[in-house]
Amino acid sequence: MRSRALLEVRGLWKRYGSLWAVRGLNLEVRSGEVVGLLGPNGAGKTTTLRAICGLIAIERGEVRILGETITGIRRHALRYVGYLPEELDLYPWLTVEEQLWFIGRLRGAEELELQERVRELLAVFELEEYSKRLTMSLSRGYRQRLGLAVALVHDPPLLLLDEPVQAMDPVYQRKVAQLLRKLADAGKGVLVSTHMLSFAAKVCDHVVLLQEGKTVFSGSLQELYAAYNTDDLEEAFVRAVAASG
Ligand code: ATP
Repeated sequence: MRSRALLEVRGLWKRYGSLWAVRGLNLEVRSGEVVGLLGPNGAGKTTTLRAICGLIAIERGEVRILGETITGIRRHALRYVGYLPEELDLYPWLTVEEQLWFIGRLRGAEELELQERVRELLAVFELEEYSKRLTMSLSRGYRQRLGLAVALVHDPPLLLLDEPVQAMDPVYQRKVAQLLRKLADAGKGVLVSTHMLSFAAKVCDHVVLLQEGKTVFSGSLQELYAAYNTDDLEEAFVRAVAASG
């Protein structure tokens, strides 16, 4: 039996003025899956993630989270989704710990549950010694770790991550890849946009490759490698983009 669909996107079209940023996108994220959203600059990755969260209106199409349309659950959508935006939107004057508590409460997590979760997340992201520091005083890589912890604080089933590791050192990128795999193995679904292809190759089960809003490829990593006759993701990416450009 196939696992449960956490996210279904059907025929998504999004336009800014006369520019179609996303053209008829279909994708699905099931429990246990990490799906990579790849593509050159301006391909429509961030727009797609924002549209799925309900942060921007779409022209056509349907987004379902846990089987419900986004309009149906907009009020609760953020309870089911952990969103890490490309531009981190953390509160600079809160400490690391306060940030986690504040967003956790806002997303509806209970106090007892949060005590445990905040302790766990500070440990997972190696932020314990920074817990009393103001967010604004953290280095960029550490702020990105905190951003990920914030996305996970209410234990959502679906994670939407926009460039989660771009500020992280290679050692930590590998740790995040392992963590996302572990979360998926525990039943979560992850949609992750990234230009970090070595990271994507480690973590993704399935990739969707966009170019100028169009879906150039959608399938497993193995299918992508077979389609472009290589076993290197960077090479497959370059060939796919050249073939459809
Ligand atoms: P990158 O890899 O550079 O982050 P991306 O794949 O995330 O790119 P988007 O940011 O989704 O791409 O942008 C897709 C297209 O939509 C681009 O042509 C961009 O210029 C345009 N675009 C994005 N946001 C807006 C906006 N608010 N108003 C007008 N055009 C926009």
